[in-house]
Amino acid sequence: MLCYSFVMNGHSVFPLSWGPRPPVADESYDWVTNSFGPSDPRALDIVPVKCDEPWETLETFTRKCAPHLVLGLFPAFLQIDTRFHRAIHSLGLPVCTMVEEQAKIAAAVVGHLDIGGVVLLQSACTVFERELAKFKPAMTVRYLAILAPEERPGIAHGEIDILFELHLVPGIVGLFQCEQARDSARIFHPNDRFVWEFADSKAWVSDNDGRRFSHAEIPQPVFPHETQCACGRSTSLRLN
Ligand SMILES: [Zn+2]
Repeated sequence: MLCYSFVMNGHSVFPLSWGPRPPVADESYDWVTNSFGPSDPRALDIVPVKCDEPWETLETFTRKCAPHLVLGLFPAFLQIDTRFHRAIHSLGLPVCTMVEEQAKIAAAVVGHLDIGGVVLLQSACTVFERELAKFKPAMTVRYLAILAPEERPGIAHGEIDILFELHLVPGIVGLFQCEQARDSARIFHPNDRFVWEFADSKAWVSDNDGRRFSHAEIPQPVFPHETQCACGRSTSLRLN
């Protein structure tokens, strides 16, 4: 759902101001941290995500990498593993996760087992790719790199096979890249599970019913990209 408007009041900022929370014992929710910063005390502000709220871009990425395994390499504090497992299991595929501190071991695993896809934070990409190069994997490894809300793509396409997606909180996709737009590391689509508003170089995102978060301003400039994407999506954005 997309709409355009001008200046609004009552903006929230990142980490998101999250609305009412269910009891922790409610098993229909996963809990993820509300910040990508390990030294940010707000990282302890865990937020609920419905177990059945899909991670569609990960599912699409995994289908592209099939039939090989997809490896997740995340800092443990993000609490993202459960959503990662759930998304890939929904496709009937096995899944493997390792913590970011095990990048060297993970590279050896990927190099020896010909794992086709790796999901990780952009900040871990360079170290992982350097380690993986030592093993000269037989198949091209595809990367799905997660950006924090204030982070821009910093790796050029062509260096490695990579798609970026910007998460609102770890495991919740705000902006993503489609296969057709992958030639440019800066072109994204907004996740239409949410309500978006754009004005000038700003973007605000709200939950569909506005209960979890509302009018949260993406903490970096977001520009309209007028060229129609080959995937058919009507809205493209550029992160500079
Ligand atoms: Zn597209």
